Amino acid sequence: MACHVPSYITKGFPIVRDVKPGGVFLVNCQWSFAELEHHLDAASKRYIAKNNIQLYMINAIDLAKKIGMGKRTNTILQSAFFSLAKVMPETEAIQYMKDAALHSYLKKGQDVVDMNYAAIDAGATAYVKVEVPASWADAVDNKEAVEETGRAKTVKMVKSILDPIDKMDGDSLPVSTFVDHADGTFELGASAYEKRGIAVSVPKWDAEKCIQCNNCAFVCPHATIRAFALTEEEAAAAPAQTKLADIKAGKGKGVYKFSMAVSPLDCMGCGVCISQCPVGAIEMVPMESQLEQQEVFDYMVDKVAEKKDMFVADNVKYSQFAQPYLEFSGSCAGCAETSYARIVTQLFGDHMLISNATGCSSIWGGPAATSPYTVNKEGKGPAWANSLFEDNAEHGLGMYLAQKKIRGDLKAKVEEMIQAPSCCAELKEAAQAWLDTYDDGNANQAPAKAFVKALEESISSIDSCIAFLGSDMGKQVYGDARDARWLPRSSSRRLT
Ligand code: SF4
Ligand code: SF4
Repeated sequence: MACHVPSYITKGFPIVRDVKPGGVFLVNCQWSFAELEHHLDAASKRYIAKNNIQLYMINAIDLAKKIGMGKRTNTILQSAFFSLAKVMPETEAIQYMKDAALHSYLKKGQDVVDMNYAAIDAGATAYVKVEVPASWADAVDNKEAVEETGRAKTVKMVKSILDPIDKMDGDSLPVSTFVDHADGTFELGASAYEKRGIAVSVPKWDAEKCIQCNNCAFVCPHATIRAFALTEEEAAAAPAQTKLADIKAGKGKGVYKFSMAVSPLDCMGCGVCISQCPVGAIEMVPMESQLEQQEVFDYMVDKVAEKKDMFVADNVKYSQFAQPYLEFSGSCAGCAETSYARIVTQLFGDHMLISNATGCSSIWGGPAATSPYTVNKEGKGPAWANSLFEDNAEHGLGMYLAQKKIRGDLKAKVEEMIQAPSCCAELKEAAQAWLDTYDDGNANQAPAKAFVKALEESISSIDSCIAFLGSDMGKQVYGDARDARWLPRSSSRRLT
């Protein structure tokens, strides 16, 4: 059994507990043994010590880079597997692997074949056996539990469903855990709690070199490198390790500070961002060296207000000052599809309905309990649905017609309300502004908020309703209250 991704160790995945007593467990990481000992959870240590597991370490990550294979560690680790597992004579296994490499890669050139040969030879010799300390048999965890914050319903879902699934323990969940989601709906924004930390390398931003084009944020499939414009106060309150620059040109110059924040624990390490930087202002560095930047990213997301005056919808640079409503999806590293979907959410996400066609986008877009679609501070975000068995255009037409009917009925009620003599002038004005922008999604947003506020302010108490019925205006509208249909039956309960 092997663990090829170091973050599976730091996340405490119970991988080793599937190894039979006396079996072999190989960990691929760039750590020293002391670092592995620090990261490994107590339950895994106890299992290793008590079951006489043979523990090995290998650093295929640096080896792959040295050989010229970049992030491709699989050949090295496959070779290590055959060398350690002894499922067949090692020399034969290595020869089969080399024959396969020749067959697969000769058309790409002898240098590619040689690289694979070097990876196969390296994998068979680069692992080291680790002496397991006897003290591991009594290991105990001393990590403090992290208290989740955020929207109460999302936090509840994360604790009860997402966390166990994340630890590969979803099978243990009883059906009753899902009662809150019996109608098939799940809270948005849960992917922000995963913090998978699976990237080996993440971008490091150079504030001085950067020309603030925002290309990197524009192409990032996972919304893990983001541009922020900060007021002086927001900049002053930012964590000490925050990197800031004056806005060099265009909108916001002389008004805001600029920062390109990276979320190391959400980044997938795909390197798409650095491939689009025109001036080499970002470089890929080991993830652990950038962990202090997580606090900066979290600060930017939580505390830095979105600057609407920096947003221009049809401009690459300025589109990236808008909040993405699709973040940290579990799509493959570097997925192009999620880059496009993310941009669409930056344009329409706070009032967007998505009828998703079944395919990759239904897997990264709607994995139950880890929704990568998210909401703004007002709780608004894309409403997403996918129907496996219907054509998504037909399904989307149904969503559209349902919305049209619901909105149409609401519109008719508002028009009726405006005609009512008892409707006050302020409420009429707000309602009319909402009606005037009814067919323009963007223009309708501010009037909709103002209308809701006016409606809330117009809610009358029971006492004021009774007082109104007794007033001249009330008599004019409803007749004499003593004879009217209201008062003889009036009681707090009925009027409510
Ligand atoms: S490496 Fe990939 S996931 Fe990470 S910030 Fe760059 S584009 Fe985004
Ligand atoms: S692509 Fe490079 S220059 Fe442009 S904003 Fe990103 S880091 Fe700065």
